[in-house]
Amino acid sequence: MKKLNRRDFVRTTAVAGMAAAAPRRLFGQGPTVITPKTVRPAVVASANGNQYKNGGPATCVETAFAMITGGSDVLDALIAGVSIVELDPEDSSVGYGGLPNAEGVVQLDSCCMHGPKKRAGGVAAIEGVRTPAKVAQLVADTTDHHLLVGRGAQDFARAMGFKIEDDLNTEKSRNLWLEWKRRTDPEHYLDPKKRAEAWYETGLQLVRDGLIDPEHYWGTINCDGINFKGELCGVTTTSGLAWKIPGRVGDSPILGAGLYVDGEIGAAGSTGRGEANLYNLCSFFIVEEMRRGASPKDAGMAALKRVQRNTIEKRLLNGRGQPNFGLNFYILNAKGEYAGVSMYGSTYSVCTEKGPQTLDTEPLLQGRPTD
Ligand code: ASP
Repeated sequence: MKKLNRRDFVRTTAVAGMAAAAPRRLFGQGPTVITPKTVRPAVVASANGNQYKNGGPATCVETAFAMITGGSDVLDALIAGVSIVELDPEDSSVGYGGLPNAEGVVQLDSCCMHGPKKRAGGVAAIEGVRTPAKVAQLVADTTDHHLLVGRGAQDFARAMGFKIEDDLNTEKSRNLWLEWKRRTDPEHYLDPKKRAEAWYETGLQLVRDGLIDPEHYWGTINCDGINFKGELCGVTTTSGLAWKIPGRVGDSPILGAGLYVDGEIGAAGSTGRGEANLYNLCSFFIVEEMRRGASPKDAGMAALKRVQRNTIEKRLLNGRGQPNFGLNFYILNAKGEYAGVSMYGSTYSVCTEKGPQTLDTEPLLQGRPTD
C-alpha cells in the first residue's frame, strides 16, 4: 500500500476539501454560505493516534484531519480515525486485541461528545464489539441516554447491527494474559494481600521484560478535532486497565473524566491511570479552566496539580513522594490551539495543515513515575 508523504497528504486533503465543497457550487442548491475561516482545523490525540494504521495508508490523526478538511462531520471523522486503532490488533490498549480483564475477557469502554449538537454517548464494559466508539456515537445519536454498560450495551450494539464476537482476544493478548496468570497465581491461591501486590508487580514486570509496551499497560486513544467553522468534537476509546477486575469501568467512558467537550470553549481527553482521573473529573475541570481564560497548556497543568494534591495514599506514591503513575491530557480550544500535558514526560499526536506530528507533552514532574 502506498505511503502518503507530506506533500501527497496536503494535496489529498486539499482535493478532498474541494470535492466536498464542489456540489453546492456546481449545482447551485441553496444560497452560498460564506463561512468565516477563522479557525485552523486541527486534530489532537494520544501518541497512538499517529502510530497505528491497521494495514492502511494513514494513521488516526491523518485520517480524521483529511476527513475534517474534506467537509465531513467532525465527530464522524474522529470516530473513523479511532476505529483504525480499535481494529488494529497491534495496539493492545484499544478495541480488538486490547489486553483483557483478570478473567481473560476483553471489556471495552468509550465515550464521545459532539460540540455543536450538544450530544454525548458512551458504553462501558462492553464485550464482543471491536469498535465501541461507533456504539458510543449511536448511543448519542439514537437514544435519550448517555451511558449503556455491560450486557445492555452489547444488546444495544446487536440491535444496531454490530457483529458480536465471542472473544476479542488476539493470540498476542491471550498469551500475555496467560503469562500474567501464570506469574500471579502459580498455585491458584495466595493470601489476598500478597495477591494484590503480585497483581501490580507482575504487570510492571511484564513491562520491564519487554513483553508489554509501557505506553500500553495503561493505554487508550483519545482524539479531539476542530474544523474551519470552529466545530469541536471528541472521542475516547479503550480496553482499559490490563487485568482489571471484571466489570471495572475506568475514566474513558465517563463524561467529564475520559472526555469533555463544550463546543464554545474546548475539548479535553485523557489516557493513563483512570482512577486518578475519575476522582478529579479532570476533562471537565480543564474545559472549565479554559472557560475562565486559561490556555490549553495552563488548564491541563492545573488539572495535573490537582491530581498530585489529591494523591496521598502511600501505595500510589513513589520514593520521592510523587504520584507513581502516568496521566496524560490532550486539549484543544475553540480557537484551534492545543496542548498535550502529562504527569511525567510522554508524547502525543497532532495533525494540522503541516501534516501529522508526534510531539513531546509538557510534563508536570521530572523523571519516571517509578523512580
Ligand atoms: N484511562 C484508561 C483506564 O483507566 C486506561 C489508559 O488510558 O491507559 O481505563
